[in-house]
Amino acid sequence: MRFGHFQIDIFSDGTFKIDGGAMFGVVPKVLWSTQKAADELNRVTMDMNCVLIRDADHVVLVETGAGSKLTDKQRGIYGIERPPQLLNELAKRGVQPEDVTLVVNTHLHFDHSGGNTRRDGDTLVAAFPRASYVFQRLEWVDALNTNERTRASYFPDDFAPLEAAGKLELIDEAVEILPGIRLDRVQGHTRGTQTVRVTDGRRTAFFSSDFMPDRHHLPLPWIPAQDLFPLDTLEAKRTILARAVEEQWIVGFTHDLPRFGTVTSVDGKYRFTELAD
Ligand SMILES: [Zn+2]
Repeated sequence: MRFGHFQIDIFSDGTFKIDGGAMFGVVPKVLWSTQKAADELNRVTMDMNCVLIRDADHVVLVETGAGSKLTDKQRGIYGIERPPQLLNELAKRGVQPEDVTLVVNTHLHFDHSGGNTRRDGDTLVAAFPRASYVFQRLEWVDALNTNERTRASYFPDDFAPLEAAGKLELIDEAVEILPGIRLDRVQGHTRGTQTVRVTDGRRTAFFSSDFMPDRHHLPLPWIPAQDLFPLDTLEAKRTILARAVEEQWIVGFTHDLPRFGTVTSVDGKYRFTELAD
């Protein structure tokens, strides 16, 4: 998608499977199963989307998918059937790992940060050797200091090696990381989750995070059970969706089909319409 002086692309690293009840929180299965079919283990299939934002001087990659370090057992648990597509998708667009200047993760769960690092013999190295990696400071702190509730989602191999390599750029709250590209901390899914907003001076393109992982989470109370601060998610959705409608934002989701679209409000219900190709 051409967007002012930016080229913005959204693509999927692949799919994973997650318990449908966990994905839809307090919403009963009789409701969510009309939107997404569950498999025999009650799991729904979700894409792991990445966004590439380019201008003449910068190549920004948002999210790196699940990466190549998972064991067969982990891939089985998460229903990841295909090898990671991130590097193929970048190559299709003429981008090599060394071309990436900035990597952003909305948060550090493994399905967003797994491709940050890769194995090189016995060591873990940055998969994007020339890039700085931008995370919220609170997310970094929480990812390294997990508790019984949060531990299963964070794999330190995805992010801890970046600190020693001097590639870490921690930010606080809201920062314009490059002209026209803004990161905002939005507490809900985790404390340190951040969203991405790109503006061409006129319009806004917005990449959600997991507090609103796909179009099926547009209704305000449809909030993942994984969210650590569900009432903050609720208020964030209330504010952000009203603005997205009012200002006609172009919206992409973390775990939907990899498409941009717009959100409208019809009879008090939010609706997502994909942009034509
Ligand atoms: Zn996720």
